[in-house]
Amino acid sequence: MPKIIYLPFDQLHRNFGALKGADPSTDQIVMIESLGMVQKRNWHPIRLHFLIASARHFAEDLRAEGFKVHYERAASIQAGLASYIRSGTQVICTEPSSLAQHAHLQKLGIEFVENDFFLTPRPLFQKWAQQQKSFLMESFYRLQRKRLDILMEENQPVGGIWNFDKENRLPPPKKYQWQPYFSHTRDEIDLQVADELNISIGDTWATTRAGALAQLEYFVDVHLPAFGPYEDAMTTENWALHHSLLSPYLNNGLLHPQEVVDAVIKKFNSGEVPIESIEGFVRQIIGWREYINGMYWFLGQDYRNQNQLEATRELLPLFTDPTKTSMNCMKENISDIQERAWVHHIPRLMILSNLALLTGTSPQAFLDWMRESFIDAADWVMVPNVIGMGVHADGGKMMTKPYAAGGAYISRMSNYCKGCEYNPKLRSGDQACPFTTLYWDFLDRHRDAFSKNHRMRQQYFGLERLTDLPEVRERAQEVLRGLSRGEI
Ligand code: SF4
Repeated sequence: MPKIIYLPFDQLHRNFGALKGADPSTDQIVMIESLGMVQKRNWHPIRLHFLIASARHFAEDLRAEGFKVHYERAASIQAGLASYIRSGTQVICTEPSSLAQHAHLQKLGIEFVENDFFLTPRPLFQKWAQQQKSFLMESFYRLQRKRLDILMEENQPVGGIWNFDKENRLPPPKKYQWQPYFSHTRDEIDLQVADELNISIGDTWATTRAGALAQLEYFVDVHLPAFGPYEDAMTTENWALHHSLLSPYLNNGLLHPQEVVDAVIKKFNSGEVPIESIEGFVRQIIGWREYINGMYWFLGQDYRNQNQLEATRELLPLFTDPTKTSMNCMKENISDIQERAWVHHIPRLMILSNLALLTGTSPQAFLDWMRESFIDAADWVMVPNVIGMGVHADGGKMMTKPYAAGGAYISRMSNYCKGCEYNPKLRSGDQACPFTTLYWDFLDRHRDAFSKNHRMRQQYFGLERLTDLPEVRERAQEVLRGLSRGEI
């Protein structure tokens, strides 16, 4: 009897999970394009195209290796697997990447193989988390550096310190020659999927293992050396700056984090990458990415429903239509998302999530939008990032203070404000930047929750010194009404 390996669309790597020891002479592969999954939500078409075209290419790679691949189109994953399970054949699968799918497949009686698509086994993270009073990413990251022996020299961090964040907060440079980004060619499968989805696709995202490896190589050679200093900058002059654009491939399995770490460390060892760039990048891969995944499994299924700040506003119209706002930062970012299903981590946190936080938008409505809009938006990425980091809906379980910021931060880290009809320095009046007004109003509205937080002492000290708080409150109400109507 053959063994059946069920292969979800986010585990597309030959050397990891259930495929690791698979043998074409004894094992068969089942992949399922779930119509329910495709149709049940308002997924960004670029995201859908990426996931489906990557899976179909991967199925072809497996066939070329000699595997029998059953690529099914079914109403749901359960429906697609039903006949294999009924036949009594052994069905195995790598532990799924989402809590919901884990529960569904467990109910079907599928055998799980350990999920090694991350560098940190789930039980190891659980053990770490159970020992923490507060879940500081920095503590986890330092342990990772030691445990994985990355950027370490005689048990000390290379460069003498663990963290080069201070060097990595430069605003966008002026008169700078940005390097071009890699473009990917399209084949018949890409065009066929685009045709089925009735969309046109650009050349930003690869949908094959070879394309993902080419993207990695290009990033390492061209962008990695300057990655660090500008990793938090935002500019209308360049949509990707020096970011790697590797997260979609890491999240659907076309690349494994170990391959990415090996490639960047090799480049660093050649002496061509400054420490602040390699440290900033390694922190994202072995620190943030692993931490967020670990917290997702540690916090469990109910975490996504948290709403400690009792935020109930409906999703603002500007999130789905950039013509519904005059805020230049929002217009630019929403337009970029519509074009490529991607903006980097700072606009995600300090512009999009910040606006949802300051306006009291329902965390679950905002989470749904984030999940649907980004090419790399796996459930495990978005739930902790939105609920814990972005909109502080968990009462501070993950982060000790909310990431709330006014227009001054956006003005410092971008060139958006130059083309905006609002003024980041003003907090009241018609020209006031909505972020600035809402930032002070947010602090004012949530005194009970945050005024005793020692990490927010400075902010509350600033609030107490405002002489125009009544005007700010009044303008905040106008801004909230205007944003909800799509008129700000
Ligand atoms: Fe955004 Fe305010 Fe700057 Fe306009 S002024 S771009 S709304 S931060």
